[in-house]
Amino acid sequence: MEKLSIIVPCYNEEESVKLFYQEAERVKAQDFPDIEFEYIFVDDGSKDKTLEEIKKISSENECVKFISFSRNFGKESAILAGLDNASGDYVTLMDADLQDPPALLKKMYDMIKNEGYDCIATRRVTRKGEPPIRSFFAKCFYKLINHISDVEMVDGARDFRLMTRQMVDSIISMREYNRFSKGLFGFVGFKTKWLEYENIERVAGKTKWSFWKLFKYAIEGITAFSTAPLIFSSVLGLLFCLIAFLLILVIIIKTLVYGDPTSGWPSMVCIIVFVSGVQLFSLGIIGQYLSKTYLEVKHRPTYIIKEKNIVFSDKK
Ligand code: UDP
Ligand code: MG
Repeated sequence: MEKLSIIVPCYNEEESVKLFYQEAERVKAQDFPDIEFEYIFVDDGSKDKTLEEIKKISSENECVKFISFSRNFGKESAILAGLDNASGDYVTLMDADLQDPPALLKKMYDMIKNEGYDCIATRRVTRKGEPPIRSFFAKCFYKLINHISDVEMVDGARDFRLMTRQMVDSIISMREYNRFSKGLFGFVGFKTKWLEYENIERVAGKTKWSFWKLFKYAIEGITAFSTAPLIFSSVLGLLFCLIAFLLILVIIIKTLVYGDPTSGWPSMVCIIVFVSGVQLFSLGIIGQYLSKTYLEVKHRPTYIIKEKNIVFSDKK
């Protein structure tokens, strides 16, 4: 019998997990009578009763597994822990808030089975229910990253996707610390089909993403999948050298022709302030890459498990 693993990262989702499980079970009964389900709820250091809720479900159904982190490591780490521990022939990633409708699973599964795809990914075509300013910055981010990175990232792409075992294995073989899944999925390649659907608002609780968190995530995406900012700062440096060279020529000629009156103090200050700003900016860009490299070379674990009820340990 084929097995489908459903990975659900949960952070403070006490109200949603039960609703999610019920909906997924409904879909299983209706669409997947001949397929074994394996749920992996990853409790990402929740501060509410999420883990208790998951354990309750798990005690009723032995297909429900859980992993609980020692603290909040972020959704990317929760995804990785889920993938590391999933044993299914097919693996899907879903949010606990039912924004990723389990009802789509059947269609996705059939596409992989019958049309030879390795992965069915989803993207939302509307951003209904999201603050307009957030949508605006998201749009800008995707425009920028697709311009400066070789890996294609689709605007509105969700993490909700169904993958074959082969694709999952290639993703977990990448053990980088700074994980930006949207890029990693693109990086491994494979035949991917995009399904589109309208944004659905979460059933309960509220979003865990603040503007600041999203901003940091965007920087993560850029530094992980492009070195264009480094080239940009080099070009900027070169440009300023050229300007400085021309200015020196102008000043020398001016001094030779008109003598040397001591003036131009305000313009001098402006130039100094401007150029040091550019220097600091470029240094900041280099610092971003250096800090990411620093985190990588430390080889710290992406997540730390406090508790889990998954027995097999031959997979990592
Ligand atoms: N999540 C997580 N760790 C975090 C933040 C979020 O595991 O640090 C989970 C969260 O419980 C949910 C999913 O990631 O299942 C998506 O989060 P959310 O719904 O807040 O994001 P949005 O749908 O608004 O992008
Ligand atoms: Mg959500």
